[in-house]
Amino acid sequence: MRYHNITKDDMLNGCGLRVVLWVSGCEHHCFGCHNPVTWNPDDGIEFDEDAEKEIFSELNKDYIDGITLSGGDPLFKGNRDCVGKFIRKVKENYPQKNIWLYTGYLWENINTIDFIPYVDVIVDGKFIEKFKDGSLHWKGSSNQRVIDVKESLRKSEVVLFGIRERV
Ligand code: SF4
Repeated sequence: MRYHNITKDDMLNGCGLRVVLWVSGCEHHCFGCHNPVTWNPDDGIEFDEDAEKEIFSELNKDYIDGITLSGGDPLFKGNRDCVGKFIRKVKENYPQKNIWLYTGYLWENINTIDFIPYVDVIVDGKFIEKFKDGSLHWKGSSNQRVIDVKESLRKSEVVLFGIRERV
């Protein structure tokens, strides 16, 4: 897998202060996407041990709430193996931190992937320009859903993440 950036102290892509990994690779090609530079899976930098260390050094900080995987699409088919291994490693080493993941796929099509139970919140669905709304929390268009993964798996239906809750 390749990635474009690791951003720190992010307040826009999930609860609290976060480290964000922006991966390469996306097949959705949404009209109006803010990150078309990330679509090509061959662009960007190899996601290697140094990148992991950079992220872990952020997660070592008490005031960092967790990590967000965005892109690109972390669930782009060529990314899934690497993302799955990485997410498991994060959960094992930092069980007290939460994991958010943005994907253009719908929950109904990805919730059986084996590493999904390790994720706390998934923001699903393509960005749709006509549903764009700058006032929404953590998502760009109103069709997207901010999903509480554990509750959704437990109830076998989509449970939205509450705005006042923290995972
Ligand atoms: S899923 Fe996200 S990264 Fe991919 S094209 Fe849509 S908005 Fe852009």
